[in-house]
Amino acid sequence: MNPEAHWHALDQDLADYLALKGLKPSCQAGCSACCFGWVSLSRLEGEALLPHLSPLQQARLLEEGPRRLALLREGKDDPHFPSRFFRSRTPCPLLEGGLCGVYPHRPLACRGLLTAKDPALCDPEAQTPKDHFLAVPWRMAHRRMEALWEEERRRYGFLVLGELVSLLYLLLMGFPQTREEAEERLKGLGVLGGRWGYQLV
Ligand code: SF4
Repeated sequence: MNPEAHWHALDQDLADYLALKGLKPSCQAGCSACCFGWVSLSRLEGEALLPHLSPLQQARLLEEGPRRLALLREGKDDPHFPSRFFRSRTPCPLLEGGLCGVYPHRPLACRGLLTAKDPALCDPEAQTPKDHFLAVPWRMAHRRMEALWEEERRRYGFLVLGELVSLLYLLLMGFPQTREEAEERLKGLGVLGGRWGYQLV
């Protein structure tokens, strides 16, 4: 299955699960705290999203991508890096007026993060309880990510896992085709490995 098929299938699975459990997510249009987080992305999902970006969205990625790579270079070994980034309140550059500007094409990680609790607790400064986000929808999204990772390995011979904005930026700039070239590029940027850095698998 390609990324688009997984996106649609996950939406359907989530709708079925929520109906079965009688759960109503409190996530609504205009509620965007999770778009301030450090979101992971695989190359295959990035490549599926890329053709849907407007010139303005591309321009914003070209501006924000290098900044995120620099942050990652500095912070990829810091255990608190994602929470520090979240509290810096830096929105995803695809967030437009509080709405996802690529909503039909957003990655699995964005689709699977749901809560049925008080959305105020999603705020970067909130003391978010451990069980705030729905566990099953996240697991459903993660299983589809794993299937896509396998597909990416089959297609390219290796898997690239990184951060949403910086990976889209690297794809826009032209990502290396071979694993050796990819390793050299990511090492040169100082973002390969560590606790939060890019992974080549
Ligand atoms: S892609 Fe869309 S849903 Fe995902 S973080 Fe960016 S704005 Fe939010």
